[in-house]
Amino acid sequence: MAEYDLVVRGGEVATGFGTTRCDIGIKGGRIVALAENLADGAQVLEAGGLLVLPGGIDSHCHIEEPSRGGYVGTAGDVPVTVNEESFVTASTSAFAGGTTSVVCFVPQWKGEGILPRIADYEQRAAKGMLDYSFHQIITDPTEDVLQREVPQIVAKGIRSLKVFLTYEPLHLSDEEYLKVLVTARKNGCLVTVHCENYAAIKWRTEALLAAGLTAPKYHAWSRPPVVEREATHRAIALAELVDQPIQVFHVSCAEAAEEIARAQHRGLKVWGETCPQYLTLTAADMDRPGFGGAAFMCSPSPRTTEEHARVWEMIRRGTLDVVTSDHCGFSMGGEDGKAVSGRDAPFRDIPNGIPGLAARLPILFSEGVSKGRITLDEFVRLTATNPARLMGLAPRKGMIAVGADADLALWDPKKQVTLTNALMQHAIDYTPYEGMQVTGWPVATVRRGAVVMRDGKVQAEPGTGQFLARGPYDYIRPRGVLENGFDAAPMP
Ligand SMILES: [Zn+2]
Repeated sequence: MAEYDLVVRGGEVATGFGTTRCDIGIKGGRIVALAENLADGAQVLEAGGLLVLPGGIDSHCHIEEPSRGGYVGTAGDVPVTVNEESFVTASTSAFAGGTTSVVCFVPQWKGEGILPRIADYEQRAAKGMLDYSFHQIITDPTEDVLQREVPQIVAKGIRSLKVFLTYEPLHLSDEEYLKVLVTARKNGCLVTVHCENYAAIKWRTEALLAAGLTAPKYHAWSRPPVVEREATHRAIALAELVDQPIQVFHVSCAEAAEEIARAQHRGLKVWGETCPQYLTLTAADMDRPGFGGAAFMCSPSPRTTEEHARVWEMIRRGTLDVVTSDHCGFSMGGEDGKAVSGRDAPFRDIPNGIPGLAARLPILFSEGVSKGRITLDEFVRLTATNPARLMGLAPRKGMIAVGADADLALWDPKKQVTLTNALMQHAIDYTPYEGMQVTGWPVATVRRGAVVMRDGKVQAEPGTGQFLARGPYDYIRPRGVLENGFDAAPMP
């Protein structure tokens, strides 16, 4: 019997901290050897001329996330469900793009606790092929949720609470946000935050609609960078007061990133994430005839090419250290997607979100590594190692090391590809990146030792994805720095 189940032979292995040419020996789904000239395994993947990267970790994806209330605009109230993308189609799309693990979102329906949703969500997620973990969204932080339910989900291995500072009916008041921060601190969770100012966007949206400015492009006008900067500042300040680590989601502009940089400079545990849409799409993309602009509508809004350069600079400085997709797909056709309120609906009533699971790594590699903006090591850290560490998935995930899960993306750094929706292999009927040219492409994906994608063909049995339970981890431990030395939120 062969010593290894699979040997990946002769690739340039990118660890995130240097590149080395070696073979990878895999047994029982894990990496058990990194060496030159390993003996053949039962299966061999020739990787000569290819890069071997850790499988991508997309720590911000909306997959099959049923919502009862509106998810739509900033002041809209149209019921919509983010479930066109099932865990099976999302797995196919992820593998096509070199991603092997995701962290997705368990919803909380306002007026309910969190436990009623989680049983349903666990069943949905278990049908996929991707490895997965959960953020728990908190929209209604009642005493029962915070005191009784959160400890139960932490015991299940959910270690991050997601809050929105905008969106009807998801947004939390400052008082509610403080309560979630305190609860996270007591239970050893990370808090992840959507930072935009609810009241400011609501006020501006109403004024735009009253003035007859209803087309998709006015989505950007309703939420300029200042509303993101203000909420980012407030999210950080309140987290500092409670002494609770946070990650600011989907930073779209330098103004907001500067708030994070300032916090980091003061030693706070504040991390910042951005997404390919804030490096490639612009508000002008929403200015297409008719309903076409809806295809690019997400929040925060895409900005300008000048802003892209500033966001790249914040990546290079390390202020923004994780790049996710914020995959949240709604099809342009049909009646349940972007057009749920009709094709002439005001921007407020068009669902926010764009698909990007498969496009994330190729776009970041091409725009970043191929164009010389970041190094290969930086790419690996932004897309796999850093999210794994921040989410408590390391060292099992996010790195190529003996003992880690054998999650790999074999990458042809020279391959030129024109992005099309068919290549995305998702359930959504479009990609906002249609026609974009990229250099560098995943040619094989390995998940826990199984070759799940080869030359674009995905082969994996539904139901083979594993839940990644996260235990307590030091990376997100509070600093222990308290105003006046008074601990208003003591940890047990
Ligand atoms: Zn999101």
